[in-house]
Amino acid sequence: IFFLRDLPKAELHAHLNGSIPLPVLQELARDYSAKDATSIDATITRLRSGVQLDALEDFFGLFPAIYALTSAREPLACATRGVLEHFLGGKQPQAAYLELRTTPKATVHMNRRGYLETVLDEIEKYSAEKVALIVSLDRTMDAATAREVVELAIDFKKGGRRVVAVDLCGNPMAGDMKTFKQYFEDAKKAGLGVTLHIAETETNSIDDTVTLLSCGPNRLGHATFLNEEAQRIVCERNICVEICLTSNLLCKTVKSLDDHHMHHYLRENHPVAICTDDILPFRNSLLGEYALLLAPKPHGLGFSEEEVRRIAVAGMNSRFGADKT
Ligand code: 5GP
Repeated sequence: IFFLRDLPKAELHAHLNGSIPLPVLQELARDYSAKDATSIDATITRLRSGVQLDALEDFFGLFPAIYALTSAREPLACATRGVLEHFLGGKQPQAAYLELRTTPKATVHMNRRGYLETVLDEIEKYSAEKVALIVSLDRTMDAATAREVVELAIDFKKGGRRVVAVDLCGNPMAGDMKTFKQYFEDAKKAGLGVTLHIAETETNSIDDTVTLLSCGPNRLGHATFLNEEAQRIVCERNICVEICLTSNLLCKTVKSLDDHHMHHYLRENHPVAICTDDILPFRNSLLGEYALLLAPKPHGLGFSEEEVRRIAVAGMNSRFGADKT
C-alpha cells in the first residue's frame, strides 16, 4: 500500500459531475428546494446504496438529477471544490496531477461561458502543476452548440485560462461524429489537446470509430471495442488509452478483469493512463484502481510493481498540461 500511495499518479479521466463526493452532493440537495426534489432524492438514495447498472445506457439516467443540483454558479463552485479536494487535498492526495473534464451547460442561472468561468475559478486556485481543465462536448449536442463549446475552449485558452484540451463524451450511440470532426480539428489548430471516448460499446459502428480516429486524437477514453485495424492505428500513432477498470466492469462493457483490453496494451508496451471516470456512482478511487493492477488474480490483474510503476509513469507522461519534465 505504501508503494501505491507514494507512486506519483495522474488522474486524466474524471468527469466533474460524476466525481462529486456523495457528502457534497447530499449537502447540495439539502440546500435545494425545487419541483424535481423527489427525483433528486431518488437518485441520491440509489447512489447511497450503490447503483446497479445493466448496461452503459442505464448510467446516463443518473445525471439529470445531479445536473439540477449544479445548475447555478455557487453550487457548481461548491461541487468543483469538493472534487478538487477529493483528488488533490489532504496529506496523501489521491493524485499528483488531475485533468478534470466537464461539459459546459447553459441553465436559467448561467450560460456556458459562466459555467466554465465558475469551474476555472476553482481550478486556478491550485497550481498549474496540479490541475487543468478539459472541456467536454456531449455527443447529443447539436452542431451549433458543439461549435460554441469548442470556440469557448479556444477563447479561454487564448485568454490564458487553464483549459488544456477538449473531450468527446456522452451516450456513445448518439450523434453523427462527421459533424463534430471539424470542431476537433479547430481545437487542435488552436493548440488544445483532443481526447475522445471511443468504441465504448459493442454496438458502436466501425464508421464511428474511423471518423473519430481521423480527428487525430492525442488520447482515447475506454477504447474497449476497437477492431484489429483500429488497434493497429492506435499503436502506430502511440495514442494513450485512458483505462477505467471499475467503470468498465460496473457498466458491463468488460466481462472480467481477465478479459480487459488493458492486457493487450501492456503486452504491446503501449501508453495507458489508469483513471476513475466517475467516483460518485462507481464508488471507486484512484488508489483503488491502482490496487486492482497489483492485486493477484482473480481479484486483480496481478501485475508486478515494476509494471505498475511503468503504467503510472506513462499516465504522467500523457498529460496535456504542465511541464512534462
Ligand atoms: P459532466 O461533463 O457533466 O461534468 O460529467 C458528467 C457527464 O460525463 C455525463 O453526462 C456523461 O455525458 C459523461 N460521462 C461520464 N462518464 C462517462 C462514460 O463512461 N462514458 C461516456 N461516454 N460519457 C461519460
